Amino acid sequence: MALLAIRNVTRRFGGIVAIDDVSLDVEAGQIVGLIGPNGAGKTTLFNVITRLYRPDSGELELGGKSLLRTPPHRIVRRGIARTFQNVELFRTMSVLDNVLVGAHTRTKPFRGSAARGRALEILDYVGIANVARRPAAGLPFGTLKRVELARALVAEPKLLLLDEPAGGLNHEEVSELGTFIRKLREDFDLTVLLVEHHMGLVMGIAERIHVLDFGRKIAEGTPDEVQRNPAVIEAYLGAESAA
Ligand code: ATP
Repeated sequence: MALLAIRNVTRRFGGIVAIDDVSLDVEAGQIVGLIGPNGAGKTTLFNVITRLYRPDSGELELGGKSLLRTPPHRIVRRGIARTFQNVELFRTMSVLDNVLVGAHTRTKPFRGSAARGRALEILDYVGIANVARRPAAGLPFGTLKRVELARALVAEPKLLLLDEPAGGLNHEEVSELGTFIRKLREDFDLTVLLVEHHMGLVMGIAERIHVLDFGRKIAEGTPDEVQRNPAVIEAYLGAESAA
């Protein structure tokens, strides 16, 4: 059984169909890529999985149990944590306090010094323990992305959703990020669903890739299969020539 099963999910915004009858499975332990040109529906699908948006139709299951019957504020306790494309942090709070927000949502929430100790360990793991007491406001974008990652990890998710983690990174940093995501998966026993425009990164680390275009799933397969798929080539070339 897949860890995450998405069945025939549709989400509209007024007249716009952001996701159209999308089905996909994410197997436990895999790194799975979700790609597609701008506006394809990737972030909307993340928002549906994390229940920021309710789908108009369709079903989502985690570990065989519906996610739609879980209230949005319980989603993290079901084992799903995420980062955001444009970083969503409490700007005036310290880095450490931002990470502690994630600790409150664990299955067995922990507080006080145990929570702080764990949050600091994770900040160290992501390489930014030195800014733990600084306010989030004013820190570089790359650092803020790590804060978000730490907040997600402290919640001890089974499924980690990463929305464009390579955004704003240089070539060398992207290559390090690929190695780091693999290590994360091992160290935290994770399944990873990754939205990313950086094709080198996705093709390099994902075992399976799902492709969206104009809200519909147009392909799925291994990185090799997807790169050779004519519908995928057409979607990307079409987007390029339109641009
Ligand atoms: P990108 O790669 O540019 O981030 P994406 O694949 O994540 O794109 P979405 O942001 O999910 O795409 O958008 C899919 C479609 O739904 C787009 O046409 C977008 O304009 C529309 N859309 C998304 N969110 C909303 C919203 N809150 N209200 C209205 N339309 C929306």
